[in-house]
Amino acid sequence: MKRRDFLNKAGLAAVATGAGLSSTSASAAAKTRWKMVTTWPKNFPGLGTGANYLAQLINDMSDGRLHVKVYGANELVPPFEIFDAVSQGTAEMGHGASYYWKGKSEAAQFFSAVPFGLTAQEMNGWLYHGGGMELWQETYAPFGLIPTAAGNTGVQMGGWFNREIKTLDDLKGLKMRIPGLGGEVLHRVGGTPVSLSGGEIFTSLQSGAIDATEWVGPYNDLAFGLYKAAKFYYYPGWHEPGTTLECFINQKAFAALPKDLQSIVLNACKVANQDMLAEYTARNNAALHTLVTEHKVQLRRFPDAVMQKLKIISDEVVGEIAKKDDLSKRVYDSFRAYRDQVIAWHDISERAYLNARGAES
Ligand code: CA
Repeated sequence: MKRRDFLNKAGLAAVATGAGLSSTSASAAAKTRWKMVTTWPKNFPGLGTGANYLAQLINDMSDGRLHVKVYGANELVPPFEIFDAVSQGTAEMGHGASYYWKGKSEAAQFFSAVPFGLTAQEMNGWLYHGGGMELWQETYAPFGLIPTAAGNTGVQMGGWFNREIKTLDDLKGLKMRIPGLGGEVLHRVGGTPVSLSGGEIFTSLQSGAIDATEWVGPYNDLAFGLYKAAKFYYYPGWHEPGTTLECFINQKAFAALPKDLQSIVLNACKVANQDMLAEYTARNNAALHTLVTEHKVQLRRFPDAVMQKLKIISDEVVGEIAKKDDLSKRVYDSFRAYRDQVIAWHDISERAYLNARGAES
């Protein structure tokens, strides 16, 4: 807001209430500066730019009254320390994925991606209208954080391998970068899951420190140049069928905002959540084409028998979280009940339609 406009409006308000310009109204209208720390490399396509977009939305919607500055991984804190940084108030906002915080709370894993779990559209249904968001807020409350959805990648790819995966045995002994519950599933079939932030993946794969990796999908994987370090590109991403990215906010910083700015922050996240999925959907197509035609990537589908076994193990792994603590059980129960219902609906809507559209005529 231009200073003269502000003074005019403040003056009118003062006249209307018959009061002078109080220090409270002056500070409420003053510019608030927030820091957003992210797990992503600065400006990384889709994820980093998604965080930038969210900050820009907040800046624009508040007309600059709340200014959010984005910090990429390692600019202010290392990528996996953003949760603590925002919890402690070093920054006011964080942009990441909840499965990174398993060490803080087992239940956190349900709010990003569950192997053989929900698609993007289904996640949004659970979070916004199926009780998921309330449980997520309860999960982060002990850390003084308010979480919300702020992006989604859609169905990811299964990953990059330097050998073909024909049977489950081909996963044995494989050292693979794969986060969250998918990593635990890999562990149970004899592989070694490794947790690496995005910026560390390419060099680790190229140097042979890891044998395989998953990252996101064609748009992001092309940008990282993963095709230079592995030639077989597998689908589908059974371990991340619609990963929700998150924004979490320091609770005290949020409480200090006036109501309109609080609403702007939460609704900007909602817009960013939708926009990221739209961007991935649009850009993955073109990137996949480039990978296959220009870079001669070998596209492979996981064999059905491998997928069936991974699904059985995934259900075991996910079910075990329910036994860890009371909150995890309640989150699991909510997630499972919603999943069963939405599967019944999507069997006769999305799946029926996609089958019909894909059928050869
Ligand atoms: Ca991934």
